[in-house]
Amino acid sequence: MKLRIRVDEDLCIGAASCVTVAPETFMLNDENKAIVLDRTGADATQTYERWCEVSDDEYQTILLAAQSCPTLAIFSTTSRANNCFRRCKVSLRGGSTGTDEATASG
Ligand code: SF4
Repeated sequence: MKLRIRVDEDLCIGAASCVTVAPETFMLNDENKAIVLDRTGADATQTYERWCEVSDDEYQTILLAAQSCPTLAIFSTTSRANNCFRRCKVSLRGGSTGTDEATASG
């Protein structure tokens, strides 16, 4: 599935739990902020947002990484799982943003 992964650099405190859970997807940059890696290795650009093609297992790992983030800095959207992520955000933050983007917390 195609998954859009974004780290809010203002929310990220560099706790690195996302890196521990999903090191193939997240890495800390020189500013101690999590960036989203190109899983194919083809693009070395350091970016806080990227579209990735992921398997179901990889998706679950990325979801766990998002849930592990203490500041809810990881956002993700997939056409197949928008509702799941949206429910997480509604339940955790007490309201919908009105967008397809959401986050989860553990
Ligand atoms: S777990 Fe959250 S706060 Fe920690 S590095 Fe990852 S995105 Fe940043």
